[in-house]
Amino acid sequence: MQTRHQYLKQIQQHIRELSVNIGERPTGSAANHRAENYIKQILMRNKFQVDLQKFNCIDWEKGETTLSTGATRFRAEPSPYSLPCDLQANIEVIENIAQLEQVDLSGKIALLRGELTQEPLMPKNFRFYNPEHHQKIIGLLEAKKPIALLTASLSDAHLVPVFEDGDFDIPSAVVSTYDANIIAQSDLPIHLKITSRRQQAIGANVIARKNQTSQNKLVVTAHFDTKPGTSGALDNAVGVTVLLTLSEMFKDISLTDVGLELVAFNGEDYFSTPGQISYLDAYGGEFDRINLAVNCDGLGLNNSKIGVSLMECSDNYVAQVDSINQAFSNIEKLSPWYQGDHMLFAAAQVPTLAITSTEIFNLMDTVIHTKHDQPSLVDPGLVLEACFFIKEIMNLRKEQNTPIC
Ligand SMILES: [Zn+2]
Repeated sequence: MQTRHQYLKQIQQHIRELSVNIGERPTGSAANHRAENYIKQILMRNKFQVDLQKFNCIDWEKGETTLSTGATRFRAEPSPYSLPCDLQANIEVIENIAQLEQVDLSGKIALLRGELTQEPLMPKNFRFYNPEHHQKIIGLLEAKKPIALLTASLSDAHLVPVFEDGDFDIPSAVVSTYDANIIAQSDLPIHLKITSRRQQAIGANVIARKNQTSQNKLVVTAHFDTKPGTSGALDNAVGVTVLLTLSEMFKDISLTDVGLELVAFNGEDYFSTPGQISYLDAYGGEFDRINLAVNCDGLGLNNSKIGVSLMECSDNYVAQVDSINQAFSNIEKLSPWYQGDHMLFAAAQVPTLAITSTEIFNLMDTVIHTKHDQPSLVDPGLVLEACFFIKEIMNLRKEQNTPIC
């Protein structure tokens, strides 16, 4: 057992290694493999049985993107995973599905705005949530074959794309709504050049197990990949740090009546969540063995509380967690949070806890997925408190000697 000081020092080291020394680590990239290896080494050092669960993915690189009409240049960013292009064509402005059904787009660049750019369109092959009208828009675009797409940004603060889909093959870029309006009014042809590359790659989940022959198990998960362009301290070096710290805490404890599985997921921030799908395909049939799944994402934000959201838990179990909460001054209950890796389990009726920061929802557009997501935002003391809280929940089960849920 380490001292509090030693744990805090290690927590800082893990966060620094993942988010500063390794830095951005999109699924399938070289940095993603460095993070995978770091996690694997520590889990093995802490006497867990470690497996890499591999899957195919795309490693996407981007270079410069330029957009101009005549002498006017506009700021544009490629949609993540966009194919490259270098072309000049006339613009066709489309604002809703009815217009899209009517229009002829062959040889043109389509500029989408208005109703069509109110929310991100789910990737074609995204399995968990895929509304019909998204699929209809994508199907119409593929049938009408514009040579490229421009989309008005979903945010006024910075350029937020509508498309993020490595299975969608029409090159696309995002511009501000202000520039989209100027471009829409011009009748000059527009020149769009996107420099990018899709490369076939391999990614892996890191799965660590202790006492894996036990019929019942507790599963703690956290994703370790990031979006491109962010060092991902809160999202989600902190969650991975909880896994690594728990492995340290359980290093010399022998479990008898329950197995412990620590899963570092890869691909929560990748368009088709391939790590989560691989895990579900391989182990979905055994989810009835899971007493409790705990997912950690975005916890430990400075000047915030640790937010715990319970899903699919019995009233009895909720009462037990409430009684544990009282011993932790920085833990607060949140209403169910229907996004993230924990939904894998909650959707299959596995009792599930999602752990994050109560104030993180205010940072979604400004910090999370941007270069501002840095270790200085993290309070290591809160990360340690989350680890003790999870450990306490596991102890509760042991003391009462009955399944907790
Ligand atoms: Zn995340």
